[in-house]
Amino acid sequence: MSELTTRISAVRPADRVASARALWRTNSAVKGMLREALATMAPGVQRCMYCGDSLGADIDHFDPLSRTPLRTFDWPNHLLACSVCNSHHKRNLFPLDERGKPLLIDPTVEDPFDHLMLSLSVGEYRALTPKGIATVTVFGLNRPLLVRGRQQARRVVVASLRNWAAARAAANDVDMDEAILTIREQPFADVGHAMLRQSSVPRAEVVFGRDQDVLPILRDPDLRSRLIP
Ligand SMILES: [Zn+2]
Repeated sequence: MSELTTRISAVRPADRVASARALWRTNSAVKGMLREALATMAPGVQRCMYCGDSLGADIDHFDPLSRTPLRTFDWPNHLLACSVCNSHHKRNLFPLDERGKPLLIDPTVEDPFDHLMLSLSVGEYRALTPKGIATVTVFGLNRPLLVRGRQQARRVVVASLRNWAAARAAANDVDMDEAILTIREQPFADVGHAMLRQSSVPRAEVVFGRDQDVLPILRDPDLRSRLIP
């Protein structure tokens, strides 16, 4: 990839976008290796790094190729994304703040939960910062299918947590492993992470409502070490 970057930097600046596009289009072996490496890092079943739902099959350039052609083959600039997030929502959008700094959350270096809060009761993201606002808007993170998917994920995680606690009480290691696997492999890994975090906030009982029986389970060090290795 560094050789390809060198080739792009060798052409005059005005021609670099065209050069980067041509090299990206024609180097399918590099793209195949990238896709494979990214898939091993995706939670669950090769999920989209933006919405966490649909199968991530596209390689998205976080900083668009049209803006910074020299980052076309820069490893940290590649993220696995679904075609809905990549082609219908983000496209070439890359908003900047008044100082010229990126306004989208970069999930390779930032914790999205510093900028976003997931409302577990409704499955929607609330922005905490300007970056949060831009990220929700650009990626369409509150589109109806994602909201429904997160509501379902919450039900799956709650049921699995109860199964895990019951299996532990019965000293059934197989069922305990099954419950952990269900939580780890389901889409919307963000829902499980938000539940782990929000279980220790003040007034967590209000946040969890009628599912507050899972709070002691979520605070259990054994469970937490299994879900956050
Ligand atoms: Zn997506």
